[in-house]
Amino acid sequence: MNREIIEMIEERMQVGARKYGEKLDVFDGRDWLQETLEELLDACVYLSAKLIKIKQESCEHKNKHYQGEEKDTNIGESYTCEDCNKDLAIPEPDWDMYVKETQ
Ligand SMILES: [Zn+2]
Repeated sequence: MNREIIEMIEERMQVGARKYGEKLDVFDGRDWLQETLEELLDACVYLSAKLIKIKQESCEHKNKHYQGEEKDTNIGESYTCEDCNKDLAIPEPDWDMYVKETQ
């Protein structure tokens, strides 16, 4: 496993070499702490996206919420899972319920 980690780092360094030149110039004007901070903030976004994906993929969408369209407040129709916040396909109207409500 350690070998795999080293190989991954080597691959990243090769990508960097193709992009910025063979040798890393530590005096190329970049602020290394700022570069690191920006990369870590990007990593936080990527990890959050991955966690949301895992959460949605493992969710059984048991608590669903239907929001009907509200033209006066400009709220569109939506159907979401309250457990994982995934937007779900809006179900077809239930005609039995519709008939009961309009009678
Ligand atoms: Zn869900």
